[in-house]
Amino acid sequence: MDSFDFDTLAVRAGTQRSDFNEHSEALFLTSSFVFKSAAEAAERFAHSEEGFTYSRFTNPTVSMFQDRLAALEGAEACMATASGMSAIVSVVMSVLNAGDHIVSSQSIFGSTLNVFATIFNRFGIETTFVDPTDLDAWRAAIKPNTKLFFLETPSNPLTEIADIAAVGRIAKEANALFVVDNCFCTPALQRPIEMGADVIVHSATKYLDGQGRVLGGAVVGTKAFIMGKVFPFVRSAGPTLSAFNAWVLLKGMETLSLRVEKQSANALAVAQWLEQQPQVARVFYPGLPSHPQYALAQRQQKAGGAIVAFELKGATPAEQRENAWRVIDNSQVCSITGNLGDTRTTITHPASTTHGRITPEARAAAGITEGLIRLAVGLESPNDIQNDLARGLAN
Ligand SMILES: *Cc1c(COP(=O)(O)O)cnc(C)c1O
Repeated sequence: MDSFDFDTLAVRAGTQRSDFNEHSEALFLTSSFVFKSAAEAAERFAHSEEGFTYSRFTNPTVSMFQDRLAALEGAEACMATASGMSAIVSVVMSVLNAGDHIVSSQSIFGSTLNVFATIFNRFGIETTFVDPTDLDAWRAAIKPNTKLFFLETPSNPLTEIADIAAVGRIAKEANALFVVDNCFCTPALQRPIEMGADVIVHSATKYLDGQGRVLGGAVVGTKAFIMGKVFPFVRSAGPTLSAFNAWVLLKGMETLSLRVEKQSANALAVAQWLEQQPQVARVFYPGLPSHPQYALAQRQQKAGGAIVAFELKGATPAEQRENAWRVIDNSQVCSITGNLGDTRTTITHPASTTHGRITPEARAAAGITEGLIRLAVGLESPNDIQNDLARGLAN
């Protein structure tokens, strides 16, 4: 199917039919698979990557999900995992040893930051965090034992954009594996492998599902990397994606580009409107010419994505928080929830939720002010989202 366009791959890649010739992908809820003989069982277990033995290793529904996502990312292979976090942990556990070093963007998902800074540290894997937009900082952080570069772009919640190709060149010079978390853009807007990434990780929980139903994750890369490194870890350690979740995600991916493109268009409309509101100090959105990396975003992404952050004015931090909370509490359309990537718009106050546990100094360094609100724009009418926000702004 390699010659087909993205939208065709999104609905058809990976489909395998059983002997019943079902049209829609079948859901194989089975923990194990039977063999014709003891000899066949022995053969399958010896070569567990070929044929099905046990659903911790492989399952037909999960395998369809893997093949479809690999096709969408323009990659050879994919290993599904139970969540985005288990995808990230699986990559590190598959390739790094005690004494190795990671260079990572400092603007990454909170749990990723925690796993790198706290948990891996306990096993002798050290991480240096850098400003993702500062190429000299990436270069300066390299040590003789650097084995992995980790980047997330756009960042959460301030939508900073890092130059994937440029960071990739530095990773190559350092002989480090270049891992990109492509959760926010998805392959519908950005294909990091074409820009030099070695490995892509996903939280399928977000836009791949797209409807806020299940958790899932994936590691995408070359066949040699996925089958040679990640599969042996996942089959033994067991952070496996369930067949049911894989089936939900397969259906989600069929509408991926439709949703992400429409949600990006809605986000742009809301961002443009927010920029005109006198109560708003600043809007962070890669699709606005006022964004510091607007030109790079235009080059690197097909659209700006669905995440918009904006900062409310206020004489003091306390007043800024009061103004932000008023907008959130007056919303009737937007859902007050931490998830994102849903067809429903979600609204969050990062300083008191997703970034609430870090020190005020670290929060200030990360640019998370008390007046900041993050929107993950959904498929509702942008008009209704604007009216929803206007209620709290006007009060
Ligand atoms: C949510 C998220 C993750 C973690 O994914 P889970 O599926 O919640 O484990 C990782 N990276 C990014 C960018 C995310 O938004």
